[in-house]
Amino acid sequence: MSFTEIKNKLNMEDTKVLIDSIINADKRAAFVIDRENFEVMYMNDNAEKIFNGKVGTACYELFCSKDHACIDCPMMRMTGETVIQHRHSSTIDAIGKWKFTPVRWFDNRDAILVTLLEIAGAFGSEDDNVAAKLYNGNIEVQNDTLTGIPNYSKFCANAENAIRYNQDKNYAIVTFDIDKFKSINDQYGMSVGDMLLKQIANGLKKYFDLDENFARLHSDVFAFYMPYTKRGDIIKAIEKIRRNIVSGELQIDIKTSFGIYLVEDRHVPINLMCDRAKMAAFTIKKNVMKFCAFYDEQYHENMVKERGIEHDMHRALRNHEFKMYLQPKYNLCDGTMCGAEVLSRWQHPEKGLIPPLDYIPLFEENGFILKLDEYMWELACKTIREWLDAGIKPVPLSVNISRYHIVHNDLPSVFGRLMKQYNLTSDMLTLEITESMFMNSPAKLADTLNTLKARGFKLEVDDFGSGFSSLSMIRNVAVDTIKIDKNFLDQEISSDKGKIVVSHTISMAKDLQLQVVAEGVETGEHVEFLKQSHCDIAQGYYFAKPMTLEEFVNYL
Ligand code: C2E
Ligand code: CA
Ligand code: CA
Repeated sequence: MSFTEIKNKLNMEDTKVLIDSIINADKRAAFVIDRENFEVMYMNDNAEKIFNGKVGTACYELFCSKDHACIDCPMMRMTGETVIQHRHSSTIDAIGKWKFTPVRWFDNRDAILVTLLEIAGAFGSEDDNVAAKLYNGNIEVQNDTLTGIPNYSKFCANAENAIRYNQDKNYAIVTFDIDKFKSINDQYGMSVGDMLLKQIANGLKKYFDLDENFARLHSDVFAFYMPYTKRGDIIKAIEKIRRNIVSGELQIDIKTSFGIYLVEDRHVPINLMCDRAKMAAFTIKKNVMKFCAFYDEQYHENMVKERGIEHDMHRALRNHEFKMYLQPKYNLCDGTMCGAEVLSRWQHPEKGLIPPLDYIPLFEENGFILKLDEYMWELACKTIREWLDAGIKPVPLSVNISRYHIVHNDLPSVFGRLMKQYNLTSDMLTLEITESMFMNSPAKLADTLNTLKARGFKLEVDDFGSGFSSLSMIRNVAVDTIKIDKNFLDQEISSDKGKIVVSHTISMAKDLQLQVVAEGVETGEHVEFLKQSHCDIAQGYYFAKPMTLEEFVNYL
């Protein structure tokens, strides 16, 4: 018999008995709440006992002692398990671990099954044992079963207590984990992984007088809180703890990353403070030189900004919010315009014009650069076609190619298709590939570039001199031009020795039959120097800034 069939056979009273027997089985408090109007539609026996409540009340009255719904109610937006603070009675706040499961109620209402798994701590009562009592002794406040030290919810309660009742002290919340813990498990086996976690717990015990200062939050993530007067106190503590945790029996070379959150606003929930500390730790994961990092608001703001960008980018591409800007390139011998570079700008409906450095690095991380680039290449081709149709003599346009295309795209066929679609010849397009590309997947790169070159596209090495590549590295690849990086130019030619380096680079490139472009040309002095060094082409604010298509057409 299916669940629906059983349900249809039962009347509402039977149904309640059935649910009670399921939900009361583990002695936890459980509620079913209407997601629309916040009405508590069902409470099991434990819930009635603990919260002294009745079915029919609104959840905000029950859990928050409020007369209106909370703006950002976690019950309505969360699923799974989480630690939150709730109002347990008119005088007592508690921290508990809650579980939220979206369900459809029998009358088809959209509901949420809320289970209070554990109460880890309570405030506002003189009674130390109030947390356990609140739960009628049914569920004990637990320690982590593997290491025996406090678990996440207990940590939240302990930290909350300390921070709230010691207003005269400054506190830091620190979290840390082991880099690549999974591979330790894979390599040495789970039991060694477990031993390592115990060894870390012991290291913490050795450092702190009281167990309540630290915890294992989950898997290989540990946390502690401590009062401090200067930042150096925290670093010293971390250094000591790091020594403690590697001084056990296990001789495994581990790297730990510590994230530090300095508590300023004491109202921020502890779990959020832990998340922020974890975020800080995450920023140094790939950096072998760093073992700890402070969370800062700037980082948080960037994260929020990036999430906003990711949220908007697909819509932006559909709505043609990415605009093509063009920056002219000039022939240094005769002063004529000999091409232009295609640069993107995001015309955001609310945020205004966003410069590429605010989104390109993010798109390179999330892969969206593949789509944006193809979109820009198509705009370039479309523009050339329109010029030809209008009888305007076009200049070759150069487009930027992110290095991800080499591995994730088939460039010869994409550009082949564009040439066909817009009926263009390949000499109208220059492909700017960044110097850093020459470091990765050299075989695939050489293959792709040779094919593109054979099909008649001009290839330009962008940002030359910014990385570690040298002329000898690109000597064997079929490129036509190098574009000297703007920073390289700016920094080097301010000194005599630097000037020698740049002018020799130019003459060596020319000996190798490479054309030389200089970008970021800002002053007459730059121009003079480049001319003397026999540089072929220049691009920069001295001549013209990137401009819209309409503005550019007037330059032609
Ligand atoms: P890039 O390819 O090196 O482009 C040159 C950058 O230098 C442009 O910055 C340009 O506006 C700027 N610039 C030009 N002349 C001068 C000058 O005289 N002085 C100084 N200080 N800067 C000058 P922009 O437009 O902000 O673009 C930044 C970077 O973003 C570009 O660097 C390029 O790597 C990337 N980018 C822009 N659009 C795209 C795109 O559609 N696809 C890809 N893959 N990358 C793009
Ligand atoms: Ca470029
Ligand atoms: Ca460049």
